[in-house]
Amino acid sequence: MEKIEHIGIAVKDLKQANETYGKLLGVQPYKTEIVNAENVITSFFKIGESKVELLESTNPLGVVAKFLDKKGEGLHHVAYSVKNIYDEMKRLKTEGFVLLNDEPKYGADNKLVCFIHPKDTNGVLIELCQEII
Ligand code: ZN
Repeated sequence: MEKIEHIGIAVKDLKQANETYGKLLGVQPYKTEIVNAENVITSFFKIGESKVELLESTNPLGVVAKFLDKKGEGLHHVAYSVKNIYDEMKRLKTEGFVLLNDEPKYGADNKLVCFIHPKDTNGVLIELCQEII
C-alpha cells in the first residue's frame, strides 16, 4: 500500500457537516458527488496531501444509514491508495482478510475501490483505492 488516501466520516446532514468541516479545515470541499452504488452523497476536502470524505446516506437501507443507526456519526473508514488494486486484493485474500467485494467497483473521486471487513482489521472498515487514469 502507498499511503492513507483519505478518511471517511459518516454524517447525518452533509450540508451542516460541510459547514463544520469548512470552518475546521479552513477550506471548502473540492467536490460533492453522489455514488449510487453505495447509496451515499459524499464531499471531499483536501488539506496538503490529506483528504477527508464526508458521507451522508441517500437511502435508509444503505450501508451508511445502517452504520449511523448502529454507531452514530463518526469515523466510517480509512482508505489506502494502492498501485494495482487487483494485485493488492489477491495479496490480502491470501493473507486471510475478508474482502467485501470480489471485483473492484467504481467509488467516489474517480477511484476503483474494494472494502475489507472491519472484523479483520480491529474494527475499522478499510477501503483500498486505485486512481482511475
Ligand atoms: Zn472513501
